Amino acid sequence: MCPYCGVGCGLLVRVDGGRVTKVKGDPDHPANFGDVCAKAVHLPPALLAPDRLLHPEIRSRRDVERKRVPWELALRFTAERWREIFAAHGPDAVAFYASGQLLTEEYYVAGKLAKGFIGTNNFDTNSRLCMASAAVGYTRSLGADGPPAAYEDIDSADCFLLIGTNTADCHPIVWKRIRRRKLSAPDRVSVIVVDPRWTETADIADLHLPLRPGSDIALLNGMLHVLWKDGLIDRAFVGAHTSGWEKLRHVVERYTPERVSALTGLSRDIIVTAALRFASASCALTLWSMGINQSHVGTDKNAAIINLHLATGQIGRPGAGPFSLTGQPNAMGGRETGGLAHLLPGYRAITDVHARDLVERHWGAARGSIRPRRGRSALEIFDGLARGDVRAVWIIGTNPAASVPDTDLVEKALRQADLVVVQDAYHPTETTRFADVLLPAAQWPEKDGVMTSSERRLTYLSQLVDPPGEALPDAVILTRFAHEMGFKQAFPYTSAAEIFDEFAALTAGTPCDYSGVTHARLRTEGPLQWPVPSSAHSGTPRLYVDGRFPTSDGRARFIAVEHDPPVEPPDRAYPLVLTTGRVRDHWHTLTRTGKVPALRRRTPEPILEVNVRDARRLGLLDGGFVEITSRRGKVIAQCRVTETIREGVCFLPFHWGRSFGFYKSANNLTLGARDELSGQPELKVCAVRLRAVESER
Ligand code: SF4
Repeated sequence: MCPYCGVGCGLLVRVDGGRVTKVKGDPDHPANFGDVCAKAVHLPPALLAPDRLLHPEIRSRRDVERKRVPWELALRFTAERWREIFAAHGPDAVAFYASGQLLTEEYYVAGKLAKGFIGTNNFDTNSRLCMASAAVGYTRSLGADGPPAAYEDIDSADCFLLIGTNTADCHPIVWKRIRRRKLSAPDRVSVIVVDPRWTETADIADLHLPLRPGSDIALLNGMLHVLWKDGLIDRAFVGAHTSGWEKLRHVVERYTPERVSALTGLSRDIIVTAALRFASASCALTLWSMGINQSHVGTDKNAAIINLHLATGQIGRPGAGPFSLTGQPNAMGGRETGGLAHLLPGYRAITDVHARDLVERHWGAARGSIRPRRGRSALEIFDGLARGDVRAVWIIGTNPAASVPDTDLVEKALRQADLVVVQDAYHPTETTRFADVLLPAAQWPEKDGVMTSSERRLTYLSQLVDPPGEALPDAVILTRFAHEMGFKQAFPYTSAAEIFDEFAALTAGTPCDYSGVTHARLRTEGPLQWPVPSSAHSGTPRLYVDGRFPTSDGRARFIAVEHDPPVEPPDRAYPLVLTTGRVRDHWHTLTRTGKVPALRRRTPEPILEVNVRDARRLGLLDGGFVEITSRRGKVIAQCRVTETIREGVCFLPFHWGRSFGFYKSANNLTLGARDELSGQPELKVCAVRLRAVESER
């Protein structure tokens, strides 16, 4: 399975002389049937990069160079420093910050160690930046996390609502399937794209709605208003399978097309047309990604999407459903293993006393060892480090000094920390330069384990080559550290398969039950979609087909949500909205794709997209340099003057951290405002001003 995005494409990998030399799509994998995008094809040079971290290193003081040490010494040093910090400040003075790149087994071991044995719930991951709003959104509306639909639904849907997703660039193989479906029946299948930018995704759209950033709830409530007024609500489904409709109806009553037009900047007609297209579909799929989730009301935006599906009965049927597209390859596995600060394995809430009791018994942890309150979410970890409330952080497989909003604050947090442990495959990164302890990790495909894709599909990834130098799989590093901390009995693992079995047993009876899955089964039968509650069960393509939801009354819940404008709207001093995102050829903070000449050549620099009328007003030239200033910092980039972005909005990709040039990093500009329920940051909207600057070249 591909180690990049949450589509979860299956790959065929050629290994020559212990090295990966070629990668192509696996024609038998049900996620991609042989298709792949350029990132996967160009994996080999990224694995052979000269900046692989090969040996553990430590430094005892900040003002000395790190030195290479044996593994035993690195882990003993770390354990001693952690014990000192616990003794002085308590277990909540430490935190783990991990990655959606981890394998399921690795997440599980890290969460068990932190929550069950070290005694802190400060274990969060970069999924908090990616899918936390979807996870909370599904749970609030449907009773449990987990996208209800499957990729095979794309082949029968006759309406696609793509909102807050540049699917063509960020989930290219899903987009190819949508495109195939559209082209197979262009008059019968409609595609509605909601995005302030006209991206390649909109090329196949019947309707493109370039709404004002942050006005998605107004649009979705407005669409529901039209359906209600026109008698297009599925009353039978609403009556039999949902609760809360009357309360929501009172709210959407106020979202007339005229009011929604004023809030979104869209015409009344296009709002009504989009609503009627959605309602007239026999099977409608809504797909979304970070444009919805990365918002201070991301959870409410998820609720507004699910409301639309519940009101029209577009869920639990082939071709229908709300379907969030996961950013990272195993963000789903992270959620399933409890890899967020408010969760325990099996989507259990950490605040649930029965769940804590059951998990403690399964782990062989002392009764009451899991603390009853949720831990710090990602941004709260860095806030705490910057303030001195958190003293030590262990960062695994991610690069927060480039990816977390407001880089100045993150750098301050890492400078202030008493101990920074970074476990990574590469060095240097923007984050590893702050490390007191550097631990070399194996990466794909140097270790084995399982990942879950966006459609709840579990794929087993084989180890194909040895890790370089002294690098070890993350689960092995964490297990050895657990032994060093005195928890050997609870971490007896000798293989990833043993860890998987222990975790899978813990999912029994939960919404993400895959107690019927083992490594051996995935290896012989191929990928499976959970729930898979027994060894005889063949998996579940679609959830909620019986109209029953995992809530206390078995009904899905309408959530009455209101439009709430962005935290930092444009004003006289900062008159434009900046939105950030990805480009097709790069992944996250360029630790892999930045090392591939073919990908670098295609997209060598971050380019700011600016609307042609804004450019004219500000004297910006296509290809000229522009200084972008927010209340937190500056970036300088070349600009592309275009009609394809809404006036008043500009777009900058976030991949480039400060190591590529201090003034190239989009997160110099972004703000740390976040969703109260999900903790996900508002990376899609901040206010900026632009100024043309001289080219130095
Ligand atoms: Fe990998 Fe995603 Fe591209 Fe598939 S679409 S090959 S999973 S990056």
